[in-house]
Amino acid sequence: MCKNINSLNSYFTNKSPEELLIFFLKEYKNRIALASSFGLEDQVLTDMIVKIDSDTAIFSIDTGRLFPETYFLIDNTNRMYNLNISIFFPENNAVEAYIKQNGINGFYDSVEKRKECCKVRKIGPLLRALSNLTVWICGLRRIQTITRRDVQMVEWDSVNKLIKINPLVYWTEKEVWNYIKDNKVPYNVLHKKGFLSIGCQPCTRAVAKNGNIRSGRWWWENFNHKECGLHK
Ligand code: SF4
Repeated sequence: MCKNINSLNSYFTNKSPEELLIFFLKEYKNRIALASSFGLEDQVLTDMIVKIDSDTAIFSIDTGRLFPETYFLIDNTNRMYNLNISIFFPENNAVEAYIKQNGINGFYDSVEKRKECCKVRKIGPLLRALSNLTVWICGLRRIQTITRRDVQMVEWDSVNKLIKINPLVYWTEKEVWNYIKDNKVPYNVLHKKGFLSIGCQPCTRAVAKNGNIRSGRWWWENFNHKECGLHK
């Protein structure tokens, strides 16, 4: 598998995101899905995917702690593209047990408790969403954060035992915004209020102009910890 992944990665490195998507959506039809958190990159990918094959599965995870603006965007995206994006929720027993043990906002207390919350509210539903897939599509970009600087366009996700493709891996923020504007792609209104990367409401805040794109996520933590565990 690794040999194939490496050769696919080499082949597509100088190709466009659309060329990568065209190949994978055809080759892995019904076994591939976009994991969207409704960030700018995921909205770009949704637009590209709908234009290539609108039957492609798109799913998202509702942690129960999202911004109202994100729910509005989910609805808006479904309406605009005539989609019915699948929403996966955490297991109620796991959330209730976490809150019982750590409190409703226990994630502020330590990195461990924060990761445990992400595990319950994000990783659990993600595993269910990925269970029937061979390939998942993600909107990771290398320059988003130090933890993503080695991300490949095509890679083997050894944790989830899936192929993972990151079509926008080499894109800059400017390229993302240009695509959004040129194609009239809907996006979260919070991006116009200083929010660069948007996740759960209690763990995301606006950042200063020219701040790092991930600095508003888990802002109380060290940069090396700024992942929720979805992408290892
Ligand atoms: S981002 Fe915050 S609220 Fe959301 S799952 Fe992670 S720790 Fe919990």
